[in-house]
Amino acid sequence: MDRASELKEVCRKLRDKGFPEDILNAMLSDEDRFSRALEAVKKRKVKKYVFKPSGRVIWIVVGKKREYIVLPKVSFCSCDDYYYRIMNDEASLCYHLIACWIAETTGEFDLIEEEDSLYDFLLEDWKKQTS
Ligand SMILES: [Zn+2]
Repeated sequence: MDRASELKEVCRKLRDKGFPEDILNAMLSDEDRFSRALEAVKKRKVKKYVFKPSGRVIWIVVGKKREYIVLPKVSFCSCDDYYYRIMNDEASLCYHLIACWIAETTGEFDLIEEEDSLYDFLLEDWKKQTS
């Protein structure tokens, strides 16, 4: 399957899941970023941490230099790209965020279960990498 039809296929799946049309359009309007996200998903760079027993969820995308915290439900990512876009009032979709959405839809992510007691510890650690 070529890249263009692959992207269409992913979009179709997201649409089937009731993904908002405006976000899909924003994703499709930037094919480079979308491809990058797809690439990250295929290379299994997306990890979903589920903390027990609280059920808290944190998504992590492993980037070139560091790991990024992503909260797909509220469209948040801890990377610079996301930050500067928000500051400049641009569409705030970075490829990490898109990668999480794709992974969540296709099920191509690593699921990691941790104890709640590790939540704060890990979060501090990720924040340190991000700052
Ligand atoms: Zn990001």
